[in-house]
Amino acid sequence: MKYYSLNHIAPNVSFKDAVIIGLAPDKGLYFPESIKKLETSFFETIEDKDNITIAFTAIQQFIGQDIPKRILKSILQDVLNFPIPLVSIDKEVASLELYHGPTMAFKDVGARFMARCLGYFTEHDNPKEITVLVATSGDTGGAVASGFYDIAGIKVVILYPSGKVSKVQEQQLTTLGKNIKALEVKGTFDDCQEMVKRAFLDQDLKHKVKLTSANSINIARWLPQMFYYFFAYKQVKQKLNNKPLVFSVPSGNYGNICAGMMAAKLGLPITHFVTGTNRNNTVPEYLTTGLYQTKPSKSTISNAMDVGAPSNFVRIKELYNNNYNEIKQHLSGFSYTDEQTIEAIHYLYKNYNYIADPHGAIGYLAIKDYLKGNANHFGVFLETAHPIKFSPVMPKNISKTIQIPTQILSLIGKEKKSIKIERYNELKAFLLENVK
Ligand SMILES: *Cc1c(COP(=O)(O)O)cnc(C)c1O
Repeated sequence: MKYYSLNHIAPNVSFKDAVIIGLAPDKGLYFPESIKKLETSFFETIEDKDNITIAFTAIQQFIGQDIPKRILKSILQDVLNFPIPLVSIDKEVASLELYHGPTMAFKDVGARFMARCLGYFTEHDNPKEITVLVATSGDTGGAVASGFYDIAGIKVVILYPSGKVSKVQEQQLTTLGKNIKALEVKGTFDDCQEMVKRAFLDQDLKHKVKLTSANSINIARWLPQMFYYFFAYKQVKQKLNNKPLVFSVPSGNYGNICAGMMAAKLGLPITHFVTGTNRNNTVPEYLTTGLYQTKPSKSTISNAMDVGAPSNFVRIKELYNNNYNEIKQHLSGFSYTDEQTIEAIHYLYKNYNYIADPHGAIGYLAIKDYLKGNANHFGVFLETAHPIKFSPVMPKNISKTIQIPTQILSLIGKEKKSIKIERYNELKAFLLENVK
């Protein structure tokens, strides 16, 4: 399978090269040259298939010869070693819980898959060693640290803003050691991101350190998120009674929802997508007005979605032929305030004894709003993070009832190791020293 750049200048590349390069040299996102529908019989019998077979069938065409089938299967076995349950909320809505992985946010699946693909490439071919450089405002860093931990041939450098990530998030970044290095930046998330961007453009560094990123721009982080929709369908199929299936996805950079749209292109019977956002409403506004206006991000309690310029939206446009009406036919969007989010958390707890985190709560609000105008559909919203990760902003009476999961308990007492930096030159010096 070849990938082309959505800016249409850079040459087409293999899966392997797209994973190693990340963003195309013309700054475009990579997109697969073809998407081949799966057999209808596959969906008719999906409930009899195990998750590894389903995931393998969904992703194999996008990898082609670059990873042998036997190895791809073992990578998937390794990546998908935790449950992804569908939990019923009421007669028309269920929650797909994506937070049972090692760092308790949905980014685990993509980060673990990408890490193992890169690990395979460095082990069997060139480059022999690669440095993954990422800036994080919280969740990405933890998932990347855990996903890439102890993978041979890969060094990971994570920049995070000092004092601006939660305690749990900081522990997830700074206590692993081995090939994971955390740089604590005196500044904001934007400062971290600026430094990372500068490093990728640094010609002098380019010759000395093989760098790649690990955000959802990378196809190996983006594509495996398709699996969620297949796993949800497998679990919900019997309950549908021929009702059309709609997914509601709390979105920031729109990687997760766009992966769902890929699953639909593969033939998965999904009728419609709904995006729920916080006040960062670039996409819902576009769906209402037709104007796509990016803006600076506003901070909210669902902070993993504080994105004013969603990077994956260009992939959604590509999927629907850059046609506004076609996009509208497949996607609806709603945006909510922090107050509405908290209200929804209270409502779910009081009426269904269900504890949602702020992101999942927005997914719930969006599916409910959609169903108001579309009765007789069945809605699944994605619950993207464990509520414990957001306990500081959750209502106290609810957060105190959350049982602390082992993934979080295991962080207690671990020693924090970070290196404090302030300027780009310190990052550069660190990267050069780190590859020696
Ligand atoms: C990253 C993240 C999102 C947003 O996902 P996108 O793919 O960027 O749209 C939503 N919820 C949580 C908890 C996240 O960590």
